[in-house]
Amino acid sequence: MTHGIDALLSRSHDHWLAAAGALTFETRPFIDGHFTDALSGDTFTSVSPRDGAVLAKVQAAGAEDVDRAVRGARDAFDDGRWRDLPPKERKRVLLRWADLIRANAEELALLDTLEMGKPITESVRIDVDKAAETIAWYAEAIDKTYDEVAPTPRDALALITREPLGVIGAVIPWNYALLIASWKLGPALATGNSVVLKPAEQTSLAALRLAALATEAGLPDGVFNVVPGRGEVAGQALGRHPEVDKIAFTGSVKVARLFQVYAGESNGKQVAVEAGGKSPQLVLPDADIEAAASAVAWGIFYNAGQTCNAGSRVVVHASVKDRLLDALHRITAETFRVGDPLDPATVMGPLVDENQLATVLAYVERGVEDGARVAFGGGRALGETGGSYVEPTVLDGVVNTSAVAQQEIFGPVLAIVDYDGDADEGIRLANETDYGLVASVWTRDVTAAHRAAKRLRAGTVWINTFDASDVITPFGGFKATGAGRDKSLHALDAYTALKTTWINLA
Ligand code: NAD
Repeated sequence: MTHGIDALLSRSHDHWLAAAGALTFETRPFIDGHFTDALSGDTFTSVSPRDGAVLAKVQAAGAEDVDRAVRGARDAFDDGRWRDLPPKERKRVLLRWADLIRANAEELALLDTLEMGKPITESVRIDVDKAAETIAWYAEAIDKTYDEVAPTPRDALALITREPLGVIGAVIPWNYALLIASWKLGPALATGNSVVLKPAEQTSLAALRLAALATEAGLPDGVFNVVPGRGEVAGQALGRHPEVDKIAFTGSVKVARLFQVYAGESNGKQVAVEAGGKSPQLVLPDADIEAAASAVAWGIFYNAGQTCNAGSRVVVHASVKDRLLDALHRITAETFRVGDPLDPATVMGPLVDENQLATVLAYVERGVEDGARVAFGGGRALGETGGSYVEPTVLDGVVNTSAVAQQEIFGPVLAIVDYDGDADEGIRLANETDYGLVASVWTRDVTAAHRAAKRLRAGTVWINTFDASDVITPFGGFKATGAGRDKSLHALDAYTALKTTWINLA
């Protein structure tokens, strides 16, 4: 972390309250290098889940605004103002952008925390700092990746080169607005594409600021556009636009499938999908229970469970379940202080909005109806604040086929499923889900760990840890979770097409 980021992490609650009070918001779409009024005339309200206060009226892009953004992006791509710059120059611009993100970390983190409710320290440490790191990492890759020469006979030379796809429509959720944006923007821009970003309705403000900083860094006009708007309007218009070459989507399975339909019914654009999960942590009888309990708590309560790879299901051997539950209860009580996300002492902020709170509480009720026991939590918290807070919650005695074990709750609600048989039984239960994003296995037996890792159907399998991640490794899933991977050098392939140039030397 840079010095500036470190300094922000030591700011007081009073500092953040004062800084939040002094913020101003840009709420217009960012098209062709400028903020511009939406032609639609439509707006939506951004409400802070920390206290239910209205933050801003955001201008909602309509189909005509999306069209303007896509055409601007297309022109920028076609005239080569970005993709044809020397690689070193593109690297320099993106590195400058990463520096500006860090230099404006206070404002970006506040925007994210106020809109989405995550603790301010997490917005600084994860969303802002890791977004800057991701942009810088892909910037550095620009002049260090090479194309290929095929093993032709001597009388020919065949070059295999990567070419940018064109206009990328990036559609993202609200839970890590800046970070997930950077997972798309980093590789898409590094490879020379233009991007139109459609942020989630709940979190538009930080994305708009991000775009202004990109222009300040020297990104040519039109290369990066942001269209805040309603999913079924702006998102759909982007998904159906004939001049968009690829949709890079992160969000729910339901909407992911809509984008596949939009693509099929328009120009057959590529669609990469990163959707949800119901990720298992498998605890074998010989596990280090204290370490597992800590990882289980962080795995489900971090970001108030609003994480695609939340460890929302624990599959634990019956012989160690009570010890795990006791440790989990103690660690949660000691660590997960629910409170104002602007207070640096807060570890768990509110849910993103009242809808999400209602959904989460309804799932707890449903779990109990289906026979689970509330081990702890289960209710609304801090109701007097007007914010959307909920207690960290654990449901015990969950049947793996029940709704709370199978459906993505997207809140701090853990389902504990126990089993009596051997490790194969645990693996079977862990795999018994439509999703396949991540999984973990807790054991001291190296053979059991490797056997489980090979057999768990998930894009990432952790052994004796959970949520360890870095831009250097791919992220994405199997089954309903989706197709495609964010992060790592492999993401460069997602935004390029291979071209063969065959030269006759005879
Ligand atoms: P969502 O699917 O409701 O929305 C995602 C985006 O799609 C938003 O920008 C939204 O405005 C847009 N959208 C909504 N309806 C649309 C429609 N009819 N047409 C076009 N666009 C539409 O998801 P969300 O509630 O914002 O985010 C939570 C989901 O995201 C969870 O399922 C979570 O698991 C998933 N997620 C996945 C990953 C991953 O990397 N696999 C990461 C983070 C979040």
